Amino acid sequence: MSYVDEVIEKVVAQNPAEPEFHQAVKEVLESLRAVVEANEEKFRKEALLERLVNPERQFKFRVPWVDDNGQVQVNTGYRVQFNSAIGPYKGGLRLHPSVNLGIIKFLGFEQIFKNSLTGLPIGGGKGGADFDPKGKSDREVMAFCQSFMTELCKYIGADTDVPAGDIGTGAREIGYMFGQYKRIRGVYEGVLTGKGLSYGGSLARTEATGYGLLYLTDEMLKCNGKSLKDATICISGSGNVAIYAAQKAQQLGAKVVTVSDSTGWIYDKDGIDVDLLKDVKEVKRARLTEYAKARPSAEYHEGRGVWTIPCDVALPCATQNELDIEDAKTLAANGCFAVAEGANMPTTLEATEYLQANNILFAPGKAANAGGVATSALEMSQNSERLSWSFEEVDGKLQNIMVNIFHNLDDAAKRYGMEGNYVAGANIAGFEKVVDAMTAQGIV
Ligand code: NDP
Repeated sequence: MSYVDEVIEKVVAQNPAEPEFHQAVKEVLESLRAVVEANEEKFRKEALLERLVNPERQFKFRVPWVDDNGQVQVNTGYRVQFNSAIGPYKGGLRLHPSVNLGIIKFLGFEQIFKNSLTGLPIGGGKGGADFDPKGKSDREVMAFCQSFMTELCKYIGADTDVPAGDIGTGAREIGYMFGQYKRIRGVYEGVLTGKGLSYGGSLARTEATGYGLLYLTDEMLKCNGKSLKDATICISGSGNVAIYAAQKAQQLGAKVVTVSDSTGWIYDKDGIDVDLLKDVKEVKRARLTEYAKARPSAEYHEGRGVWTIPCDVALPCATQNELDIEDAKTLAANGCFAVAEGANMPTTLEATEYLQANNILFAPGKAANAGGVATSALEMSQNSERLSWSFEEVDGKLQNIMVNIFHNLDDAAKRYGMEGNYVAGANIAGFEKVVDAMTAQGIV
């Protein structure tokens, strides 16, 4: 049996009931087959893949807090410190009822390669809890965040592990967590990114993932003789990534016609009104039905359906496995020529393979949404320097990083005879740097 197959088998056997983690490992290792085969003896002797798929350490902890009725609630918190070969662990904190160890491990594993691709010195990690901030009062969110950080603060620090936001963890949650870290540890340091501007946050961090997605997509299209100008775009999600993806897409001359949330979706034939969307989602924290009420050109539909609208470019920006094989077939039949992932692993393996087989340009999340973590790393640099850079400076660096990421993965795919396979290119380019650092640092 090949070394890759052997390790995939072990991962499935040793990590039962973690399907998302299995999926992420399979996707990465399958696409690294050529690289691994070229070094099989050495990698096997050094158990390189086993070390890569086993987190350096993982924490699972109780998070008790008191709700507004005086009732004690208990959630489960996680932090997985996956790989520190190229820098301190870096990766977001997801607060969502679906969170479990397997989801955090899938995200942490992907994060290793994504962080490596940015070219910045950051290792891979991820964390979160099965807490749902939705429908909670500010006081309840604060109580949860303080309890969560009371435990988490033992394991993180500006030079060891620097968490950030993710689904359910926005500026409010980061603020409460930062305050509690400072209070317990007694140090004012850049231990979290995605902070508010008044206490060490970076300009352009809020916009970074969505903007970065568009910078990379733009470069991918240009290199393939296409353009975003006048393109019709379908976006899913209506959170941080989706909103700023829509904004930058429009600035680049495209028309965004859909957004969605966990209960329904909008088709707006005149193009999404980003200011209205921001008001509904960021200010009122309301459902998309509010958007439809305020906008005559918009139709609201319950359930899923974003990918049924004909488009040139599809940008899944909500959550994992939200674009499946049937969606991929519909997109292809409707003439879509590019899919770029704003969310983490939103496209199922089967759908990804279908899109690639049908010559649809496909940019995987670990490259396409790396702008968020890249700008988080820029926030870390500013905190270390005790300086703040202008929006233009950060945005300019972000743009360069995204263009470089695209060319790195494009080159890596070409080197291994897989031109145009950006999934393989991203995994190979990310892997090579991590392996180099792991090898140099010996058996640790
Ligand atoms: P937000 O919480 O801001 O928004 C998430 C959006 O996705 C919301 O519209 C939400 O709907 C929708 N959503 C969440 N879960 C589901 C579900 N199970 N089914 C359907 N829709 C769902 O998160 P972000 O925008 O920050 O993150 C979106 C994705 O991008 C995630 O995969 C995240 O890991 C990834 N990502 C985010 C980065 C960042 O910088 N923010 C960086 C890199 C990746 P509702 O409002 O109803 O909850």
